[in-house]
Amino acid sequence: MEIACLDLEGVLVPEIWIAFAEKTGIDALRATTRDIPDYDVLMKQRLRILDEHGLKLNDIQKVIATLKPLDGAAEFVNWLRERFQVVILSDTFYEFSQPLMRQLGFPTLLCHKLVVDENDRVVDYQLRQKDPKRQSVLAFQSLYYRVIAAGDSYNDTTMLAEADAGILFHAPDNVIAEFPQFPAVHTFDDLKREFIKASNRTLTL
Ligand SMILES: [Mg+2]
Repeated sequence: MEIACLDLEGVLVPEIWIAFAEKTGIDALRATTRDIPDYDVLMKQRLRILDEHGLKLNDIQKVIATLKPLDGAAEFVNWLRERFQVVILSDTFYEFSQPLMRQLGFPTLLCHKLVVDENDRVVDYQLRQKDPKRQSVLAFQSLYYRVIAAGDSYNDTTMLAEADAGILFHAPDNVIAEFPQFPAVHTFDDLKREFIKASNRTLTL
């Protein structure tokens, strides 16, 4: 039995924080772990900025609902689900991803959650666990699933390494250069081909 694990942002949907910053014009929200490596410091800053702009969860979700999955992503997910059990492993939050997941037909998603108070204000966040993508792969393997995983960035590499086969998709050049052991592709058609190659079954496009 085989299971396909996919990263979400950068693979199926745009980077949510960056797209949100663009839509709202709040430049300070463009910071990523490249600017502030400590994720907790970065998240606390993001929540503070949301607060300063008086943005409640519902306002944020309304903006995110105007975002679209990447071109071809919904079709790709449908293609994959006909051939594999598909689980999306993401470092986003359920509350932010909801409007985009709706457009993808709500495939199974394992990610983090926000803490929202009675006034719909985002006050904190809860990480699901440490190294969540890799831990998920290990868990599926403990159920005797063979795992094929695809992702675009550093936070995917432990998942790709732990999987029976790992694929880089839409990855920047520095990630591709640093992890030459993974095939790197840039279109959904090529990604389909990599899944077919990595499968131990005979699959067709
Ligand atoms: Mg990503």
